[in-house]
Amino acid sequence: MQQAKLETGWNLDNSYARLPQIFFTSQGAVPVESPKLLIFNTLLATSLGLNAEVLNSEKGAAVYGGNLTPEGAEPLAQAYAGHQFGNFNMLGDGRALLLGEQITPQGERVDIQLKGSGRTPYSRGGDGRAAVGPMLREYIISEAMHALGIPTTRSLAVVSTGENIVRETQRPGAILTRVAASHIRVATFQYAARWGAIEDLRALADYTLQRHFPQIQGDEDRYLRLLQEVIKLQAALIAQWQRVGFIHGVMNTDNMAISGETIDYGPCAFMDAYNPGTVFSSIDTQGRYAYGNQPYIAGWNLARLAETLLPLLHEDEEQAVQIAQDAIAQFSELYHYHWLSGMRAKIGLFNEEAEDDTLIKELLELMEKHSADYTNTFVALTLGALEGSDLNGEPDFTEWHVRWQARLGRQSESKDEVIQHMKRNNPAVIPRNDRVEEALERAENHGDYSVMHQLLAILQDPYAYTPEQAENAILPVSCDPSYRTFCGT
Ligand code: AMP
Ligand code: MG
Repeated sequence: MQQAKLETGWNLDNSYARLPQIFFTSQGAVPVESPKLLIFNTLLATSLGLNAEVLNSEKGAAVYGGNLTPEGAEPLAQAYAGHQFGNFNMLGDGRALLLGEQITPQGERVDIQLKGSGRTPYSRGGDGRAAVGPMLREYIISEAMHALGIPTTRSLAVVSTGENIVRETQRPGAILTRVAASHIRVATFQYAARWGAIEDLRALADYTLQRHFPQIQGDEDRYLRLLQEVIKLQAALIAQWQRVGFIHGVMNTDNMAISGETIDYGPCAFMDAYNPGTVFSSIDTQGRYAYGNQPYIAGWNLARLAETLLPLLHEDEEQAVQIAQDAIAQFSELYHYHWLSGMRAKIGLFNEEAEDDTLIKELLELMEKHSADYTNTFVALTLGALEGSDLNGEPDFTEWHVRWQARLGRQSESKDEVIQHMKRNNPAVIPRNDRVEEALERAENHGDYSVMHQLLAILQDPYAYTPEQAENAILPVSCDPSYRTFCGT
């Protein structure tokens, strides 16, 4: 029977490929043995204008596996160079390819990238590949972040490649199809500043303005405005991470997107017991990217971005430095503003009092002192269900609770309004390490995706406070304080 010609819905443009040649290398994916769809994001596909029915198929898998180039794609690997754990290195897409930019039915432009698609000129010693576990992990966490209302890259599909790759052991290979506002990173600017001519740097800055900040691209001080806008976006983003206890794990400058989206999920995780020193990445031996350090590191990374823009900020170097420093100085204030408004919402505050900051910090100190679970403590406060919670019965917490209740009394909103406000800001469920690991283990070693689908379903509306979520919020039996993820590569 002859099949009707079905439209795939690909509507790709390739504006990145029109940047100066130094920013990328054109190349196709390295084909894989037998791409097989492990998971496909139907809702996301539809919102991108893709035909989910047609692309959730073997033909779709051939695209996500890199064996078939979709109509209109001009695949390329992006060049970048940045600071990894404080050391400057030449980087670039060593295992990823930008297929092109999908223009959605809403007229938005999003990158479609394959991650794990084989070697490129930027692979250095690497094999250009990724394993099933870490790619599924990125799928789960990025979709959970999106559901939490936090700007993030998205995951369209994961395919297994039918090939094994060598890590600590042999592991099945996989490719993730990632969707992002763009993949322009702080490290893309660092690359331009280090190896490009000033025209290249300007071309990148103009491209970024056009793509992400069209409202300011005509301004006379547009490069300063660009820096200021990125600072604003990052201040808001990191405050959101802190609000839900998310630890990125590898905040290198190549993993900071200019768009303000969370990007590059490697050894990331959500904090269980509140402790600002929490680190999950096995490679972060110094705690550089610990939970409590994330705002400082963001500021540090933004200072690196500012340095790259100096030649565009003022022709006099001293004045350029002054302009950049003034912009960077805004970060901590902006961050604190976002953090405080997020934390006020978490404890049900609508109005502002000067002492709120102290009240919130005291609660966090109590949580740290008593090793209280971050998410569950806020859920208990939200529901007024303190019985059985980690802080219940601690005299210092009881004393704090009295002051908190008094503070709630000094605003006009009803008890019910307060609860609703808190529910909207305190997730009932997060992707807990043990749940994620369990889902990955079942999927990777047993080909059983049911646990992962259950987890994804529970995470789809984390503020819903359903009975299933309450069940899921119960702490892991063996809460392993030395939990580490080894998923960066
Ligand atoms: P990441 O830690 O994922 O942000 O990657 C840091 C750098 O290493 C980037 O330039 C990646 O493209 C590169 N990279 C990571 N894994 C591999 C791999 N398996 N093969 C080649 N390059 C890689
Ligand atoms: Mg990276």
